[in-house]
Amino acid sequence: MNSVTVRVPAKVNLQLAVGPLRDDGYHDLVNVFHAVSIFDEVTATAETGMRVRVEGDSAGQVPEDDDNLAIRAASALARHAGRSYGVSLLIRKSIPVAGGMAGGSADAAAALVACNELWGLGLPLADLLEIGADIGSDVPFALLGGTAVGTGRGERLTPLEVGGTFHWVFALAEGGLSTPAVYAECDRIREATGTEAAWPQTSEPLLDALRRGDAKALGAELANDLQPAAVMLRRSLARTLDAGREHGALGAIVSGSGPTCAFLADSETHAVELAAALRAEGVARDAVTAHGPVPGPAVGQRP
Ligand code: ATP
Repeated sequence: MNSVTVRVPAKVNLQLAVGPLRDDGYHDLVNVFHAVSIFDEVTATAETGMRVRVEGDSAGQVPEDDDNLAIRAASALARHAGRSYGVSLLIRKSIPVAGGMAGGSADAAAALVACNELWGLGLPLADLLEIGADIGSDVPFALLGGTAVGTGRGERLTPLEVGGTFHWVFALAEGGLSTPAVYAECDRIREATGTEAAWPQTSEPLLDALRRGDAKALGAELANDLQPAAVMLRRSLARTLDAGREHGALGAIVSGSGPTCAFLADSETHAVELAAALRAEGVARDAVTAHGPVPGPAVGQRP
């Protein structure tokens, strides 16, 4: 086999509860991940050495060296296998970069799956999950897809039962937000306002809405503790969120650390209308529709 292509989805956080800052600089989280139908594609081709190339509108914002998370994943897999494998990775990017939709983690997950196949390693998912967790706390979910709750730093995962398909609109912003900067701002706001962070707990009403496939109930339960920090760093997001609510979104939140905003629609038609309204109001660089949950990395082969 000469080449393997893997398609991998973006995620949105339906609940992101951020606990107090730990001594190691991380926060304990409750993170309800939901994979949606915005995809990157990673093609792994046999080669000596390791290289990566990125294609797509936002390619210029993604490193094409050893800092690329997909290359880090491929190198970690080769180390795990104890061999000096080589690979050339081509990433076709559609997931917004530094947009709070875990695009880099998705590419890392896709690279693990593609190289496992290309190099004929046959490692089980459990091994890939372990290697992925060392690369980034969002990588294990990117290997799983669907909908799942993550605890710890987000890497201890339990898949969740979902009783239907949800329709989303994502308002894409100009430029990204740095995830560490948003966590630091969250800590700063809590300190400045004397807010004691509660121990993060999974929202039972949210899990119930997911089980029943009830979009209206889910919209009311969407919650992101990083939202005030993301809005503080990017004031225009408040207007974007308001515009979505004015156009009938069942729920409106910043996705992860932002600046992408996620809106839950009550049907596919409503999602198309809502995206058009957001574009017309000029409150986002672009607005795209998607549905979820979708499965994790899917392997196809290129000759
Ligand atoms: P998260 O939601 O997991 O916090 P994010 O969606 O906000 O992440 P990413 O798109 O994953 O952010 O990228 C964050 C940074 O990581 C980028 O600014 C980029 O420099 C770097 N990066 C490294 N590899 C990749 C990759 N394959 N795709 C995108 N960004 C990458």
